[in-house]
Amino acid sequence: MSGDICKVCGLPADICTCSALAKERQVVEISAVKRRFGKLMTVIHGIDHKMVDIKGLAKQLKTKLACGGTVKGNAIELQGDQRQAAKKILIASGFAENSIELKY
Ligand SMILES: [Zn+2]
Repeated sequence: MSGDICKVCGLPADICTCSALAKERQVVEISAVKRRFGKLMTVIHGIDHKMVDIKGLAKQLKTKLACGGTVKGNAIELQGDQRQAAKKILIASGFAENSIELKY
C-alpha cells in the first residue's frame, strides 16, 4: 500500500494513522450464527470498511484460521465457530481488546 494517499486525512498511507485509530475506536461484535444444515458461521461486524481494509483483514483471518469466509458490507463471515481465535487475531492486528464483544 506504500505510495498511496489516504482518502481520509490526505497523508501518505505509510504515515497515516486513520486505520490504526479507527481500529482502536471501533466496537466490534463477534457472534456465531447457525446456518443451513446446522453449520455455524462466525460473523464479525462493526468494522468500518471505509476506514479499515476489511478485505485484507478477512484474508488474514481466513489464512490464520485456515477456513473459508466472505466479506458482506461491514461484516466478515467465517466458516465454523471461530469466535475466540478471531478475537485474538483482531487484537493482534490492532483492535482494542475491550472493544471486541463476544456474543453467545
Ligand atoms: Zn489517513
